[in-house]
Amino acid sequence: MRSKLPDVGTTIFTVQSRRAVELGALNIGQGFPDYPIDPRLAAQVTEAMREGHNQYAPMAGVLELRSAIANKLALCYGIAVDPIDEITVTCGGTESLYCAIQAVIGPGDDAIVFDPAYDVYEPAVRLAGGRCQRIALQPPHFRIDWQQVRDALTENTRLIVVNNPHNPACSIATRNDLDELALLLRGRDAYVLADEVYEHVVFDGMTHQSVLSHPELRARSFAVFSFGKTLHATGWRVGYCVAPAQLTAELRKIHQFNTFSIAAPLQVGIARHLQSVPDCWRGLSAFFAAKRDALRAALAGSGFVLPPSQGTYFQLLDFSAVSAANDIEFCEQLMVQAGVATIPLSPFYRTPPRIQLLRLCLAKSDQTLQRAAQKLLSYVATRGDR
Ligand code: PMP
Repeated sequence: MRSKLPDVGTTIFTVQSRRAVELGALNIGQGFPDYPIDPRLAAQVTEAMREGHNQYAPMAGVLELRSAIANKLALCYGIAVDPIDEITVTCGGTESLYCAIQAVIGPGDDAIVFDPAYDVYEPAVRLAGGRCQRIALQPPHFRIDWQQVRDALTENTRLIVVNNPHNPACSIATRNDLDELALLLRGRDAYVLADEVYEHVVFDGMTHQSVLSHPELRARSFAVFSFGKTLHATGWRVGYCVAPAQLTAELRKIHQFNTFSIAAPLQVGIARHLQSVPDCWRGLSAFFAAKRDALRAALAGSGFVLPPSQGTYFQLLDFSAVSAANDIEFCEQLMVQAGVATIPLSPFYRTPPRIQLLRLCLAKSDQTLQRAAQKLLSYVATRGDR
């Protein structure tokens, strides 16, 4: 068979998690919580199932959920979003990203993607017949150089993908970044795909700058969110896309022939949870900041350096003072010799710079994080080639 994606293998997340199971390593790599969800949420979903919400949900999403999302958007960003025409519930944030890309990109079109890039964007662009122009963000700050973006723009540029807060860089965009983006797109036939699945995990008193609270960007953006992240339920695969009516209509043309609709009892249960605990996301930043700080404290003085994490439920680990290996090699060493699974950064680049960073996931129980820190400390202590 002629492969449409000949160079694409299995994602680094799956590879690392599978190896972690095989080797019995502690997995602080892939981004999923190892602790339970809110029991009130579980009860709402169970109840929805018992009540009989077990058949096809409406294609765009259960209206009760879309209304709850609109309320949440009003609370978070002070904006009015029409639940009928501007919100679509999808299979995780992933499906929103895929459908938005298929809706916008066609043969000959370009999408600008910033590396290190979450790995779903490029294959979706290519399947749509487009190409990705990848602009590398440089460690340690991973800031966007807007002049570089301006230089990369062509008549074929149809989409700019902005992931904020950024996985895996753990950086966040400022209002100034959004202004630059808006300015650069003014008068162009191009759209923004704003991957904001970590909207509620922003640290140290900073505020998430959503494209939805930037009127000029909002008019040309698909903003993507995930209940997997917000409700610690990545396995439910419930996310949503917020976009102006015309863009939403195009996105739904893809969504309806892709997944069509999302698990009904999950939608009803989440809607009721949002109604009964309307600010259920408020504690998320503090929740993950405490885990981040505990991990940083546990590894202080170890030789590993933990660069600032401004957002997402990840934390980078700089091992340059511990080993001269590259990130892939060192990741493998930690897996085999320390029994800790992490994620290397270079697979997120098309052309990786020399990188000595690994990504750690903070969405783990305090006990898991402490055990992982202990294993890392023991590993450093027993290394001969420091
Ligand atoms: N975007 C980013 C940056 C992510 O990290 C993830 C999840 N790892 C997603 C999108 C996909 O979210 P979901 O699990 O809801 O599909």
